[in-house]
Amino acid sequence: MNGAAARKHDLVTGGAGFIGAALVRHLLDAGHQVTVLDNFFTGRMENLPDAPGLKILRGDVIAERDYPEDLTGIYNLACPASPVHYASDPVHTTKTCVLGALRMLELARQRKIPILQSSTSEVYGDPFVHPQTESYFGNVNCTGLRSCYDEGKRCAETLFFDFRRQYGVDTKVVRIFNTYGPGMLPDDGRVVSNFIVQALRGNALTIYGDGSQTRSFCYVSDLVEGLIKMFHTPPEISGPVNLGNPGEFTMNELADLILAEIPNPAGKIFKPLPSDDPTRRKPDISRAQSLLHWQPVVPLREGLKETIAFFRTTLGR
Ligand code: NAD
Ligand code: UDP
Repeated sequence: MNGAAARKHDLVTGGAGFIGAALVRHLLDAGHQVTVLDNFFTGRMENLPDAPGLKILRGDVIAERDYPEDLTGIYNLACPASPVHYASDPVHTTKTCVLGALRMLELARQRKIPILQSSTSEVYGDPFVHPQTESYFGNVNCTGLRSCYDEGKRCAETLFFDFRRQYGVDTKVVRIFNTYGPGMLPDDGRVVSNFIVQALRGNALTIYGDGSQTRSFCYVSDLVEGLIKMFHTPPEISGPVNLGNPGEFTMNELADLILAEIPNPAGKIFKPLPSDDPTRRKPDISRAQSLLHWQPVVPLREGLKETIAFFRTTLGR
């Protein structure tokens, strides 16, 4: 086999988004050729480097289209991840999750190449089991404002496991817990970017509810390493595998950490809690530790410093 034929060529759907662009940069650095498919709903062209190994296709993951013949793998990340964005067109969010997964699985099946699905901790809904293990089936409302995303992602997981059982496709499913870091959009709407941007602008930090709900925040470089390790597992490994940082914080604690870095007399302001907002979230990562020899290494305080520095530059403050 000559060098050109042996070169890895990954398709990254949603590659212009926050996690996708970090993954794309990592793959390019590793010498892979990368094709990005993105509709630029929440992705930005500026997120992506100007690199000879990178080709960018503008389009919707649910649409039929031609893809390069020499693809060697697919990372399916296309989907808005912030509640503000995924709830703004819920029908299209469900289509993206379900029809997008179907489209990419058919491609993987035709080409006989591995495919990784970026699923989510949202499949656990408002969990009764804590921390969340992959064997927990979850507690999800199928008729609420978050359901387009939660149930869409759950159905996508079903498709991944059925394509494996029925057609022998090498599928991998990871369940990503709240991930943050440089590259998020200032108007992304998720809590880390909201709080940092509010603090830098001298506005009060908007805490939804009483701020006692918890989340576990994973720094983006840790997450990307987990995605790559999972992608390279042998074909018999399918997951699902939780990827996240088990450090658990209330939203009040998160706000205090950010206010300690960015003193802001405006402090915090309390707003109504959105419906179906999970009360707690913390990954059990034993499976990732044993299968992938992976665990996050960036503590929240360190990751927040990097993210604050990024937003200071982005906002010119
Ligand atoms: P993001 O919104 O920054 O990126 C999503 C990307 O997908 C964007 O570039 C967007 O334009 C693109 N996209 C959306 N719908 C599309 C469609 N129909 N066709 C083509 N492109 C489309 O979000 P992110 O944080 O980078 O999340 C990436 C993936 O990881 C998503 O699948 C998300 O569900 C999953 N995930 C993220 C988190 C997190 O905390 N960031 C947590 C759990 C799961
Ligand atoms: N949240 C908040 N203020 C904000 C944005 C979010 O208090 O400005 C809360 C939100 O209600 C949730 C938590 O922070 O309890 C995490 O929200 P995010 O949208 O980042 O992620 P998800 O709810 O999808 O885990």
